[in-house]
Amino acid sequence: MVIDGKQLAEELRNRLKEKISKIDIKKKPGLTVILIGEDPASQIYVKNKEKFANEIGINSKVLRFNTDITEEKLKDEIKKLNLDENVHGILVQLPLPKHINQRDIIETIDPKKDVDGFHPINVGNLSSGNDAMIPCTPLGCFYLIKKVVKNLNGMNAVVIGRSNINGKPMTQLLLRENCTVTIVHSKTKNIEAICKNADLVVAAVGIANMVKADWLKKDAVVIDVGINRLEVDGKKKLVGDVDFENVKDKVKAITPVPGGVGPMTIACLLENTLKAYNNIISKK
Ligand code: NAP
Repeated sequence: MVIDGKQLAEELRNRLKEKISKIDIKKKPGLTVILIGEDPASQIYVKNKEKFANEIGINSKVLRFNTDITEEKLKDEIKKLNLDENVHGILVQLPLPKHINQRDIIETIDPKKDVDGFHPINVGNLSSGNDAMIPCTPLGCFYLIKKVVKNLNGMNAVVIGRSNINGKPMTQLLLRENCTVTIVHSKTKNIEAICKNADLVVAAVGIANMVKADWLKKDAVVIDVGINRLEVDGKKKLVGDVDFENVKDKVKAITPVPGGVGPMTIACLLENTLKAYNNIISKK
């Protein structure tokens, strides 16, 4: 089966909209996204984030800066947002210009407002099994997996890619559900053989069509995080890290690209914003 991420994301947004509709109009959750420069992919992501946030009743704002912004100025802007009572979620769209230290910027965000879940406090809380803001893409993958497998106990899961935003938090979420997790990366030998034993494969690499049908068991669940832009017969096409056309009829379930993980990532950002809002409001 093909897991419909668009549909699931819409259902999640509707549930969030319903909850937000019960909040007093003057006290709605607020999300501010900081966007630096003109990177076309970032522009599209931020536009979608703003559109969907406003649609469900989150006050969403985008602060735009030129690429020559200094690190100090950017930190000052974040500190102002940390203190702003109308802002419950802060997201700095990555990547940042080279002269800005990404880690220092992430650490400037109040962990309570860190809706991306990249602050070390949230990373630590997730890995120690405490309540945390969970990075949006792995959280979205997790919901997609849960749609087809209710009980992940004892499953052999393989996560391809060990980035801080995808592979590592994904591993933590699967461990929390009692999967036996293998994380593989660019230095791993014979990934194909490791995948052949997997009940669940999450591919977050960035290599078009890397995971082949003969790497996978017929009852495997496959989550494709990759977004790769290809040109096929002169036309631009988005494909994932999994060879979707040849895999889709073989395995138990797979997410498409586009229309799988991508829409869930944005819906989970909205969920994290409401979670941050509830955490902040409950401590007032
Ligand atoms: P990243 O930071 O570049 O990490 C890629 C990971 O893949 C690294 O751990 C790398 O290993 C590993 N890798 C590279 N080549 C490999 C190979 N030949 N075999 C096995 N592993 C290999 O990428 P990312 O930010 O996690 O993103 C991964 C993909 O997801 C990209 O296509 C990105 O566009 C997409 N993405 C999608 C969403 C969404 O919402 N759907 C969100 C974010 C990202 P090393 O650590 O050894 O270098």
